Amino acid sequence: GKPVCECNTCFGGPDCSLFSPDCAADVDSGNPLFLEPFWMQNAASSAVLVAGWHRMGYQVNDQAHISTELEKHIRKLHSVVGNAVTEKRFIVFGAGSSQLLNAAVHALSQDKSTSPAGVVVTFPFYPAYKEQTEFFRSNDYKFLGDAALWKNASDANVNIIEFVTSPNNPDGQLMKAAVQGDYAKAIYDHAYFWPHFTAIPAPADEDLMIFTLSKLTGHAGSRFGWALLKNETVYQRMAAYVYENSVGVSQDTQLVALKLLQVVLQGNGGDFFDFGSTTMRSRWETLREALSVSNRFSIQEIEPQYCSFFRQVRVTSPAFAWLKCKRDEDEDCYTVLKTAGIIGRQGTAFGGGSRYVRLSLIKTQDDFDLLMRKINALVSDERVDS
Ligand code: PMP
Repeated sequence: GKPVCECNTCFGGPDCSLFSPDCAADVDSGNPLFLEPFWMQNAASSAVLVAGWHRMGYQVNDQAHISTELEKHIRKLHSVVGNAVTEKRFIVFGAGSSQLLNAAVHALSQDKSTSPAGVVVTFPFYPAYKEQTEFFRSNDYKFLGDAALWKNASDANVNIIEFVTSPNNPDGQLMKAAVQGDYAKAIYDHAYFWPHFTAIPAPADEDLMIFTLSKLTGHAGSRFGWALLKNETVYQRMAAYVYENSVGVSQDTQLVALKLLQVVLQGNGGDFFDFGSTTMRSRWETLREALSVSNRFSIQEIEPQYCSFFRQVRVTSPAFAWLKCKRDEDEDCYTVLKTAGIIGRQGTAFGGGSRYVRLSLIKTQDDFDLLMRKINALVSDERVDS
C-alpha cells in the first residue's frame, strides 16, 4: 500500500500539506535559526570538508595555525563591527560561551580570600549563571542573587563577581555593572552585542568580555565561544580551566568557525549584518504593530541609539520579546499565552514576575509567522470583548 506519511503536529492531510489551526507556536528556546536563509544563500562558500585523516591528533602541526588564524579573524571582526576593543587582549576559546561563563567565575574567585566569592546578577537574568554556579558546588564561590543588595558591601568582607548581560537576556537592555569598587569584578556576557539585535554605541572595553558564535552566526550546535581578557593571570586561569575541563576546543569546531567568519567578513560584514538586522527589525516591526492596539499586553521599550556600525540611529531589535500581561486577572501570563497556543518561557525562570513571558524571535520565519497568527488572534479577541 501507500506509505503513510507522518506529519509533524502542525500539518495534516494525506501529504502533510494541510496546516492545522491547533498547532501551537513554540517560541520557548533561543535557537538562532533566523540566519539559516543567509547560510543557504552562501552554502558553497561556507562549506567545510574534512577528510578522515585530517587533524587527528591533540597537537597537530596545523592546529596552531588554525587557532592563530581564528584569533586574527575574531580581532578583525570586532574591529569591523566596532563592538569590542581587542588590542592588548588575550583570547580564550570555549565550547560555546557556556563553558567560559564558569571558567570566568573560577578565574575571578581564586584571589586569596577566606570566604567564597559571591556571584550576583541584575534581575531579570539569564538563568544559567545561577544554575552553573550552584551545579558546580565549588568552595570558591556561591550564588548570592540580586546585585543591587551588594552595591555598598565593601565592608562585608566578600568578593563580588557580577554577571552583566548586555544586551540583556531576556529584555534586551544594554547593561552596566551595578556593583563598583575594589571588591567587585564583572563578567560581561556580550552574546547579543551584534548589529542584528542592538545598536552598537561604542566598542566595549571591559576587563572580561564573553562572546559566542551561537548568536552571531547562528551556529549554536558548533559550540564555540571566546573571551577577551585584559589581565594575564585571569587569562591563564581561564585557559587552565578549559584545558582541565576539555583539553581545549575541538579542532573541527575551530575550522568551521574560521570558515564562517571568513564569509561574515566578506565586504566588511555588510551583507551578513544587513541580512541579520533586516530580518530582526522586520519581525519587531510586525510585532510592535500588532501589539500597538492591545491594552492587554505590552512589550519592552528600548530607546533608539546611534549605531556606529550602520552609522545611523537604530531602533533595537532584541532576540527576545519580554511580554507583559497587564490585566489584573492575567497574573499567570504564561498560562494565558499557552491557552492561546503560544509557548513562551515563564518570566519566573529569569527572576522576573509571573506577569512576564519571554518570546523567542530568533527561530525560523515559520515559527515567527505562527507566533504572529496567534498574537493577532489574541489581540482581535480583545477588541471583540471590549
Ligand atoms: N549567554 C547568554 C546571555 C545566552 O542567552 C546564551 C544562550 N542562550 C549563552 C550565554 C550561551 O550560549 P552558548 O553556550 O551557545 O554560547
